[in-house]
Amino acid sequence: MSKREPRAPLAEILPGERQGRSQSGLPPLMGDIGFIGLGHMGTAMAANLASAGRPVIAYVRRADQLAQLEALGLRPTTDIGDLLGCEVVISMLPDDDAVREVVFGRGDDGLEGLAAGLIPGAIHLSMSTISTAAASLLAGEHARRGQGYVAAPVFGNPDAAKARQLFILAAGAPADVVRCQPIFDSLGQRTFVVGADPQEANLVKLLGNMMSATALEMLGEVITVVRKRGMDPQPFIDIMTSTMFGGRAHKVYGDKIVRQAYAPGFVLPLVLKDVRLALAEAEKAGAPMPSVSVVRDRLITAIARGYGELDWTALGLIAAEEAGIFPLTPVAAG
Ligand code: NAD
Repeated sequence: MSKREPRAPLAEILPGERQGRSQSGLPPLMGDIGFIGLGHMGTAMAANLASAGRPVIAYVRRADQLAQLEALGLRPTTDIGDLLGCEVVISMLPDDDAVREVVFGRGDDGLEGLAAGLIPGAIHLSMSTISTAAASLLAGEHARRGQGYVAAPVFGNPDAAKARQLFILAAGAPADVVRCQPIFDSLGQRTFVVGADPQEANLVKLLGNMMSATALEMLGEVITVVRKRGMDPQPFIDIMTSTMFGGRAHKVYGDKIVRQAYAPGFVLPLVLKDVRLALAEAEKAGAPMPSVSVVRDRLITAIARGYGELDWTALGLIAAEEAGIFPLTPVAAG
């Protein structure tokens, strides 16, 4: 048994609980916001910041994205240098490699990275789901250059992002987290401050995603049994979510699997990325997660069958296919 004292529960900050000046005496970040990673999640988040009246400079690599982003009220650019004067730059990128590239730059083509370019005192607000090792590496590099690094991965899919319904898990120097609070208020419904060490927010996020992934796998399995026994799965899910499984994951995903709604979403290659990261974190802790290994194999199967563009609710499709009740052909994302 651990001899450590139990830690205090996570602090929770509800929208509106702003605390004025931060502990550092610096005001909340109210100037231009840089944004990198304008994908399913990032586009919705950046648009929400713009519609809350915040000037957002959005960096994309391809010029063909500029018009669409401008129409959302953003100031798009293909030059990352345009973001380097911002007091805060948000990243919402796919994985460790992408965030590392943005922070350290690409030596081969002279692309400047955030670490070398941001002004001292600026904050990199890193909202991607990445490994704890990457978070610690990036936090260390920014600290070495007198910049802040706040990890703030989120729970919630692109629809939740659009509706400002994200749950945000923040960790970093307390003064920096407080300075980011007006941004969190524009993006989500609740912010949980996990601690002062950024990597802890990433661990909480990865483990939470594994709870959802294994719930999806189990929902897929039981719904398949119900279907194969000739029963309607909708009343089954209604009973379960009205009794023992009334939480958000079972309600939202149970309904989607019953409706066979697999549109992205949280696409399977990104889910597999999280599963791999979570298994590595577990291995590092010397704590196996065998049920997550099952999900890993299901995801590999799903991607191999051509379902890589679908949402993780497609775990329900794989469970059905394994029972022979749906044809093994790619389905339209709908
Ligand atoms: P996405 O693939 O739709 O978006 C990522 C964007 O980053 C793309 O537009 C891509 O072009 C851009 N990008 C990649 N590398 C880049 C680079 N080097 N420089 C600039 N831009 C670059 O992914 P997403 O679904 O928006 O997810 C983003 C992050 O949020 C991931 O870490 C994911 O795990 C996490 N997340 C996703 C969901 C979800 O439901 N989609 C939910 C919660 C968290």
